[in-house]
Amino acid sequence: AVVVHRRMKKSAKWVKAMEIVKDFEIKCSTPISRLRQVADAMIVEMHAGLASEGGSKLKMLVTYVDSLPTGKEKGLFYALDLGGTNFRVLRLQLGGKGHGIINQQFVEVSIPPSLMTGDSSDALFDFIVAKLAKFIAQEGSDFRPTPDRQRELGFTFSFPVVQTSIASGTLLKWTKGFSINEAVGRDVVAELTKAMERHGLDMRVSALVNDTVGTLAGGRFANNDVVAAVILGTGSNAAYVERASAIPKWHGPLPKSGEMIINMEWGNFKSAHLPLSEYDLELDAESLNPGDQIYEKVMSGMYLGEIVRRVLSWLAQEAAFFGDTVPPKLKVPFILGTPAVSAMHQDTSPDLKMVANHMKDIFEISNTSLKMRKVIVHICSIVATRGARLSAAGVLSIMKKMGRDTVKEGEKRRTVIAMDGGLYEHYTEYRKCLENCLHELLGTEVFKTIVLELSRDGSGIGAAILAASHSKYLGSDD
Ligand code: BGC
Ligand code: MG
Repeated sequence: AVVVHRRMKKSAKWVKAMEIVKDFEIKCSTPISRLRQVADAMIVEMHAGLASEGGSKLKMLVTYVDSLPTGKEKGLFYALDLGGTNFRVLRLQLGGKGHGIINQQFVEVSIPPSLMTGDSSDALFDFIVAKLAKFIAQEGSDFRPTPDRQRELGFTFSFPVVQTSIASGTLLKWTKGFSINEAVGRDVVAELTKAMERHGLDMRVSALVNDTVGTLAGGRFANNDVVAAVILGTGSNAAYVERASAIPKWHGPLPKSGEMIINMEWGNFKSAHLPLSEYDLELDAESLNPGDQIYEKVMSGMYLGEIVRRVLSWLAQEAAFFGDTVPPKLKVPFILGTPAVSAMHQDTSPDLKMVANHMKDIFEISNTSLKMRKVIVHICSIVATRGARLSAAGVLSIMKKMGRDTVKEGEKRRTVIAMDGGLYEHYTEYRKCLENCLHELLGTEVFKTIVLELSRDGSGIGAAILAASHSKYLGSDD
C-alpha cells in the first residue's frame, strides 16, 4: 500500500482536504452567465454542423425521419435496442387510429463486457441476433404475424451513425463503454442483416434510429406536442425537429412535412466555456475515446461516479483523507457507479448510514466519520449539480434554436421534451436540479410552457413505430 503523509498533523490533513474540495468546487461552478455562454456556443456549433458534413464537433446528423408518428400506425412490429449496458428486444402490436399500442412484450439482456470491447463485430451482432431469434421462437399465440408477411424491425443503435437512408448508415465511432474497431465505418444494418442470415432469421430492418430519435418518435406517438428528446443515461444526447430548409448540408428532396429530425450527438460538444477540472481531463485521457464526448463525460451516467472516485482517490493520496494509506479499491477505475453516487447524495438519514455502507461495500473503507461522510456527499453534489446544470444549458440551446425560448402574447403553445435514461429517471436530485436550472434560464413565463416528460423505454417503442411508418406493407390506417 502507498503510505501518505504520515508526518502531516491531523488538522493539517483536514485543512488540505478542504482545500482540495474547495478547489474542485470552484472549477465545477456553473453560474447562470456561464451556462448561457455554453448554450450560445452550442448554438454556434449547431449551425456549423448543419451547414456541412464534418463542419463541427456537433455532428447534427440527418436521420431520414421526416415525419413523426401520427397515431395511425398499425400492425405487428419489432425493435432491437442497443446502446448502453443492456439491450432489449421488443414486440409491439399497434392498433391503428384511436387504438394506440394494443400489446407489447420485451426481454432485456445485459451485454457481456467482453463483447463491447472485443475485436469482432460479428461476435456482438451474433450475440444480439441469438437473443432476437430466441425471442421470436418463443412467440406466444397472442402474437401471430400473418404468414405471408416478413417480420419488420426497427433498430435502435445509440451511437453516432451517418445515415444514407432510413434503414442504412455507417458507424462514425463508438462511445460509452463500446470499442470494436472493426465495426467503425461499416453499415450497421448490413452487419445486423448478415448476422440474421447466419442465424436463419428472416426479418427486415425497416428503420435504423438513434435512441434520441426513437424516444422522440415514441413521445410524439403519445403526445402531439413533443418536439425534442433528450437522453440522460449511460451516455447523453438529444434530437429535435428542424426545418429542412435550415439544413444547408441536406441536398436530398425537400420533405413534404418541410421537417427533418436531427440527431445532434451533443455528447461530443466541447467548448472553452465548459467547466473542467483536472479530474475530468485525466478521466478523458484514460478513457476509451480520449478527446471525444467531452460534454458527455461531465454529465452522463457512465462518468459521474468515476469523477467522484477520482476526487476521493486524490483526497486519500494528498490529504490522507482515509488514513495513512490509500485504500486500494479507490484506485479501481469505474468501480463507483452513478447509482451509488445518487444513493449517497440523497442519503437523508441523520448519520449518513447509506454513505457509510457504500464506502464499505464499494471501497472497503469502514472508518468514515460523520464529518467525512458529509464531505463525500458534498463531492457527489458538486458533480451531479454541474452535470445537471450543463444539461439544462443543452436544453436551452435547443429551445433557442427552435425559437421556443420566448412566448408571444396570447400564445398557447406547449413544448414537450421526451426524456429518457436511467440518470434522469432514477437520480431525483439531478432531475430536480436540471428543472430548476432550466426554470432559472428561461424565466417563469416560458418555463410554464415547457414540459419535460419521462418517456420510459420510448426509444425501443419509437423504433418499432418508425418501422411501421416505413413498412413495405401498409403500416398505418391511411
Ligand atoms: C451516443 C448517442 C446516444 C447517447 C445516449 C451517446 O454516447 O453517441 O448516439 O444517443 O449516447 O444513449
Ligand atoms: Mg437506452
